[in-house]
Amino acid sequence: MIPNTNYSQLKESYLFSEIARRVSQYSAAHPEKKLIRMGIGDVTLPLCKAVVAAMKQAAEDMGEAATFHGYGPEQGYDFLRGKIKEYYAENGVSVDLEEIFVSDGAKSDLGNILDLFDKENTVLIPNPVYPVYVDTNIMDGRKIIFADANEANGFLPLPDSAGKADIIYLCSPNNPTGAVYNRDQLKQWVDYANKYHSVILFDAAYEAFIADNTLPRSIFEIEGARTCAIEFCSLSKTAGFTGTRCGYTVVPKQLVFGEMHVNKMWLRRQTTKFNGVSYLVQKGAEAVFTPEGRKQIEENIAYYRKNASIITQALDALGIWYTGGKNSPYIWLRCPDELDSWTFFDTLLTEVAIVGTPGAGFGKNGDKYFRLTAFSSLDNTITAMNRLKKRK
Ligand code: PLP
Repeated sequence: MIPNTNYSQLKESYLFSEIARRVSQYSAAHPEKKLIRMGIGDVTLPLCKAVVAAMKQAAEDMGEAATFHGYGPEQGYDFLRGKIKEYYAENGVSVDLEEIFVSDGAKSDLGNILDLFDKENTVLIPNPVYPVYVDTNIMDGRKIIFADANEANGFLPLPDSAGKADIIYLCSPNNPTGAVYNRDQLKQWVDYANKYHSVILFDAAYEAFIADNTLPRSIFEIEGARTCAIEFCSLSKTAGFTGTRCGYTVVPKQLVFGEMHVNKMWLRRQTTKFNGVSYLVQKGAEAVFTPEGRKQIEENIAYYRKNASIITQALDALGIWYTGGKNSPYIWLRCPDELDSWTFFDTLLTEVAIVGTPGAGFGKNGDKYFRLTAFSSLDNTITAMNRLKKRK
């Protein structure tokens, strides 16, 4: 057997283990200090009532012969795909049911989609970035070029800052920077991809956090995107599904390269290698899109938005430069006093017992930056920001 030696090219995922190591060392030395974790990318509020009720009912269905469900359609039940189609229509985007593929989350789909692309393609990935894009391509041995995201471009690189690539990753609202592309900027990427016959993999996992209605929630709001883009969505942050697992990917029928229809390829890939998301979870996901569910998840998102605004107000008061926080649960700040991100991590930990995420963990352009998240509790967010303000 010849193993895939590309795996030996992967860097150790050192970020969260190193954070855990430093935090436990500090806690052992200072058991009296109450640590506040502002680095987590996981939600803290529970599933909303509408989702729980739907999942309970689905469990009852599964216990009766008349309503029992065995294997379902690999690409998702129509009751859920229909709701997703309506959700898109609210933003003026028309998608067919056959273009919607329900999955167990965006991470799996972002990795699995690479089955459809040759290993000779060049990949363009913004830096800093959600590490999954880089690692999944290293596993396949593809050539990666990076598009610099920095303060000068508002952490939103445009095509002119990058070389030519076949596969382009865009994440908006972005993890880790919280930056969001506007329509003009996305149009530039769409035109570029159509011109060079590239594909854009658009990660919209945080679209629900967009408060400014002039900003696009979906790349399919941009003219020309249907011939060059695939969109990945997730209920993880939208509706607290991080542990429940459900997402969806939209692959337009017009996405065609030579003889190859990407929508048909993905259908074939999914029906061959995936057996669908459980009926129970899809029933819960359907409830997210009901009026009652929508109201309840909006309340949760409003809670996180309030946390984000408490963080951005504190940074404004301290005169610290940042992106994000307005249309995103992430706030990406420049480390004060020119500190590098690990030194700032240690400073915050030892001086005010706040744990954040060093930007260096997301790529070289994150070296002098730091990520805070709005997913803590309101109390903790207020306390943490008071501590930060007093530090000065
Ligand atoms: N995409 C981005 C940008 C993320 O930050 C995350 C999770 O943190 C994911 C995708 C994964 O989402 P899911 O939980 O649906 O797999």
